[in-house]
Amino acid sequence: MTLRNQLLSYFSAVILAVVALFGWNAYRIASGATERQRDALVVEHVGQLARALSVVDPEGMDAARLDAVFATSAEVGYAVAVVGPQGTAVMRKSLDPRIGEDLDQVDLAAIAGSPGAQGTLRVADHAYEWASAAIPGTPYLLVYVFPEGDGLRYSGLASRMIALALFMGWISVWVALVISTKVSDRLKAQSDEIERQATHDALTGLPNRLWILRRLEQEIARQPDSGRKLAMITMDLNRFKVINNTLGHDVGDALIQEVGKTLQDSLWESDGLARTGGDEFALLMPIRDEAHCYLLMDKIVGALEGPVVVGGITLEVSVSLGTAVYPAHGDDAASLIRCAEVAMYSAKEEGVPYAIYDPESDPNSVEHLMLISDLRQAEDLDQLELHYQPKVSVGTGRVEGVEALLRWSHPERGSVSPANFITLAEQSGAIKDLTEWVLDTAIEQAAAWRDQGHDLRVSVNLSARVLRDMDLPSTIHEILHAYGLPPDRLELEITETAIMMDPKRAMAILTTLNSFGIRLSVDDFGTGYTSLAHLKQLPVHEIKIDQAFVTNMMEDREHAVIVRAIIDLAHSMGRSVVAEGVEDRRTFEELARLGCDTIQGYYVSRPLPVCPLMDWFAAGEWKSPVVGAGEVDA
Ligand code: C2E
Ligand code: MG
Ligand code: MG
Repeated sequence: MTLRNQLLSYFSAVILAVVALFGWNAYRIASGATERQRDALVVEHVGQLARALSVVDPEGMDAARLDAVFATSAEVGYAVAVVGPQGTAVMRKSLDPRIGEDLDQVDLAAIAGSPGAQGTLRVADHAYEWASAAIPGTPYLLVYVFPEGDGLRYSGLASRMIALALFMGWISVWVALVISTKVSDRLKAQSDEIERQATHDALTGLPNRLWILRRLEQEIARQPDSGRKLAMITMDLNRFKVINNTLGHDVGDALIQEVGKTLQDSLWESDGLARTGGDEFALLMPIRDEAHCYLLMDKIVGALEGPVVVGGITLEVSVSLGTAVYPAHGDDAASLIRCAEVAMYSAKEEGVPYAIYDPESDPNSVEHLMLISDLRQAEDLDQLELHYQPKVSVGTGRVEGVEALLRWSHPERGSVSPANFITLAEQSGAIKDLTEWVLDTAIEQAAAWRDQGHDLRVSVNLSARVLRDMDLPSTIHEILHAYGLPPDRLELEITETAIMMDPKRAMAILTTLNSFGIRLSVDDFGTGYTSLAHLKQLPVHEIKIDQAFVTNMMEDREHAVIVRAIIDLAHSMGRSVVAEGVEDRRTFEELARLGCDTIQGYYVSRPLPVCPLMDWFAAGEWKSPVVGAGEVDA
């Protein structure tokens, strides 16, 4: 029931109750008055009739005379009787035969009593009233009988009060209608305003996060199995903070308003659009399929990107969009928005304008959360192992060292590649413990080999997150000390991108590690954006060319050119060069020709667990085609 109808029914009920109470009381008072008024009228009327008969000689009091008197009156349905001084009716007359029949059975003379008396009587289930009056100048009494309730009862004050009460009731309902409409309109306007403020954004006038959440919930609740698809898109402006901080909040606000307006203009009215945060917007639209979704994102990016003039200043706007699709990526509003945000941040990370949610790369997807929890127990459950891949000198054919590569034997998933869990471990914070385990195991192993007479340098990979840990150098120092391994027998491989994430801190940590005498290597070189000037400053000994360039350098001329350039560049800076991912002899020979110092790859050996690696050494399987002798130093 609407508020208006509720108010109307409350008002009407109260008013009708008051009117009914008032009406009933008024009726009771009025009926008393009417009764009295009516009694007086009857007495008056009988008196008149009696006076009309008074002129008649008592001796001539007969039926004809009575007829004559009554012929001039308009009485219908009445009966009269004239009662003589002896108490007997000398005559009687009924104007209605029915009444006559009834009254024939009644001794009217007996009930008449004294003049001016009034009363009621019942004859054959009919109720009558009567009144008597003395006929002036005669010893006779006139008795006047009429059916009860006839004539005067409802014509008096009471009936007028009833009519008045009904009229007032009717008026009251109308008044209630008008008042309730006005009150409910005002209340509705107030609550609409409160609702609007709660669900809209003051700056742009657009709906806010709460609104889009509700809208999404409503859309999901509508025909959940209809096969409809929805795109939940979140968007934010790139470098908005910079604009805000450098040009001021007024310019920032104006830019947000402009973006809101452009979005509104480029969308259909039925699409949902909301401003969900500082520079964040959310859009909700039905889609046919993923291709349609890409088309929409393209359209939005197209509408927004480019120069915008705000307060006389031209700004280059660029945006990042992330999309989650209902029902593929979630069936509730909160998780769809979260997925859309994850997609948006991955678009930012990849430097692309938009991305659709990919559960595979979401660190918080259910599958990944389960994997992280398994990973935290992997060490205790002895599911972790290190494999070692030889690094061979091109010039001497000697195995200079081995790279420790982590392996995780998951009870259900089998062997999980580090490529699949290192990022997860970084995002969940498990990487610190994992790295310490790898360092501890690899250093212990290197020390053990050393004790057995195999002087092998062991390389350990460090991830980006670990490189921000200022305690890392002391931890490594302690482990080296614990196993008595000389620092130069340890090499740390750090990817180019890890260094570039926080170059200052990386530089500080690398400098400390270098001061301990630990060797440092830049892994996966060529894939990041290390500037030459920066590379020159880094205290690293070695550069590892990313296998993406090496593996197919014989087929891809461009890759061959890059490999050659990196080798020349590294040499010009006094760094040695390792080529990883060498899979065949031709590549090996070409690398040797180009002056590469060290190679690593399946051509030499796959990464092996400790025992097979020892067997590999013992078998002397590695025969360097360049040095010919096939020396294996171990
Ligand atoms: P990476 O440090 O660049 O390691 C080289 C990867 O290339 C290894 O993969 C290795 O098995 C593989 N590989 C070696 N030779 C060849 C070849 O000839 N052809 C091809 N196609 N591949 C070759 P893996 O073991 O799967 O490791 C992948 C990445 O995971 C590593 O790349 C490294 O970045 C990371 N990783 C491995 N172990 C650890 C670890 O203990 N800690 C950290 N932070 N990262 C690790
Ligand atoms: Mg490596
Ligand atoms: Mg590598």
